Amino acid sequence: STPPVSNFLRTIIDQDLANGTYAQKRWAGKPGPASVQAHGAVDAARIRTRFPPEPNGYLHIGHAKSICLNFGLARDYGGVCHLRFDDTNPEKEEDEYVKAIIETVRWLGFSWETPEEDNLYFASDYFGYMYEFAQALIRSGDAYVDEQNAEQMRATRGTLTEKGTNSPWRDRPAAESLALLEEMRAGKHPDGSLVLRAKIDMGSPNMNMRDPALYRIRHAEHHRTGNAWCIYPMYTWAHPVEDALEGITHSLCTLEFEDQRPFYDWILNKLAELGQLSRPLPHQYEFSRLNLSYVVTSKRKLLELVREGHVAGWDDPRLPTLAGLRRRGYTPAAIRLFCERLGVSKADSRIDYSVLEQALRDTLDPVAERRVAVLDPLKLVITNYPEGQSELCHAPANPHQPEAGTREFPFARELWIERDDFQEVPAKKYFRLFPGNTVRLKYGYIVTCTGCVKDENGRITEVHAEYLPETKSGTPGADSVKVKGTITWVSAAHAVPAEIRLYDRLFSDPHPDAGDKNFLEALNPNSYHAVQGWLEPGTQADPEASWQFERLGYFVADLIDSTRDKPVVNRTVTLKDAWI
Ligand code: ATP
Ligand code: MG
Ligand code: MG
Repeated sequence: STPPVSNFLRTIIDQDLANGTYAQKRWAGKPGPASVQAHGAVDAARIRTRFPPEPNGYLHIGHAKSICLNFGLARDYGGVCHLRFDDTNPEKEEDEYVKAIIETVRWLGFSWETPEEDNLYFASDYFGYMYEFAQALIRSGDAYVDEQNAEQMRATRGTLTEKGTNSPWRDRPAAESLALLEEMRAGKHPDGSLVLRAKIDMGSPNMNMRDPALYRIRHAEHHRTGNAWCIYPMYTWAHPVEDALEGITHSLCTLEFEDQRPFYDWILNKLAELGQLSRPLPHQYEFSRLNLSYVVTSKRKLLELVREGHVAGWDDPRLPTLAGLRRRGYTPAAIRLFCERLGVSKADSRIDYSVLEQALRDTLDPVAERRVAVLDPLKLVITNYPEGQSELCHAPANPHQPEAGTREFPFARELWIERDDFQEVPAKKYFRLFPGNTVRLKYGYIVTCTGCVKDENGRITEVHAEYLPETKSGTPGADSVKVKGTITWVSAAHAVPAEIRLYDRLFSDPHPDAGDKNFLEALNPNSYHAVQGWLEPGTQADPEASWQFERLGYFVADLIDSTRDKPVVNRTVTLKDAWI
């Protein structure tokens, strides 16, 4: 494989390693505050990154960028990457999502396990530490319980041009705030009545530094901690603490969190000064998120598509979820190549969907086994070929890999061909079958079309042709007749019947949710249809078997619905870019 392309994050890591930024870092083999890490081994020169999904939905292609970045850097620098569930928001989180996320990260080819460590963590395991840290911040005069309601807090927060005003509760004695926090935790106060806030600066030009909330009251059951807690940490407070407890060195997030970085640093430095966290502390770096055309990647919108039945589920092959892409036939290698080609920068960009498709073709072409298949079948009868007879034809398993050998399948009197490979009255420059024309049946014989049969409605039901016995592919006479057209076919008596699911883009608009557009209005009504087709004899459609069907594209046997006896095959992508 090619060496990784450098980027601003690699430059930072190179410098940190050269400067010994993490030379004093200790790691106790488990997350914890300074008191725990003090007993750990020196973990110098080992970078630690993390991928921190919230288990409130399935992962999508945007998450793949973050996964490949975080796990990729850890791998390339001999470090480790944690998988951490950021489950601090009780209402929207579920175990189903936890399982699906674990499976998807593994499927992509990454691991959070090392011989010594199993770095799978849940932020909810740190609720106790967070609570102790909050108490320490109150004691040191850096946090207070505010009794203003949400509306009053909004009003006193100020604006970009106007400073905020201090809460009347801001300078209450620490003992009072400590007692109130205790009561909040004990469930003595209703949702929204009290908030713990950091005491920073209501006049800061950065709105995020105007006494941000740390804890809010939520009487809600959590998928892991049940009813143990009724106060939950705000994301902006929880996240730096999670990073520090886990000894993360480089905390990578998307650009929308750039304005949060001063608070991230403030909170960690405060807690380190108070002896709660050990140094060196993690640093936050921002990169631009992936925006892909023709899809939506907001989990809220994906959830809406699933809940309202616009798609069959989170793994619907039309969705940009990783479970959906997998079912569609996308491979981990293709998604990793796509992310590699995206690179990492701070520049906002929109990536065309065709870039993802091309990464798939580029990874499949060298390895995919070839098959023939017919999706829109029309009978071709070779009228001078004996009934009941058949013979084998040979084709390469993969033309790029001679060592992969050949496949064989029978030629017989009755074949299936694609309906559009015959025209009774040929259009200009049409070189395939029409009465009087001669074409090659790929890997078989050259045939001359003699006519067709129609039903009472004028629909063509059969095409007739005569074969030239000396022209079989791979025999000396194969080139004795020159033809301009080649078509694919399967023997009707031997071919494998299959349900073939043809997918198109889910949205007709390249930017379905740009501005204040309603993305549901951009749904493509023709994004899915299924046909009955025929596969090359001998094709075994075990779940996730995949092939290139010659002339047609890449296809995969459906992960859930396909069996050898009843093949169900999804079209992953056509051979050529159809998105222009
Ligand atoms: P969504 O907006 O879809 O709900 P999220 O960012 O809220 O996504 P998380 O589960 O919190 O979802 O994301 C986990 C990680 O994945 C975060 O570090 C986040 O920065 C990253 N991530 C999410 N979406 C993208 C994207 N489109 N491009 C790059 N990284 C992303
Ligand atoms: Mg998030
Ligand atoms: Mg979100």
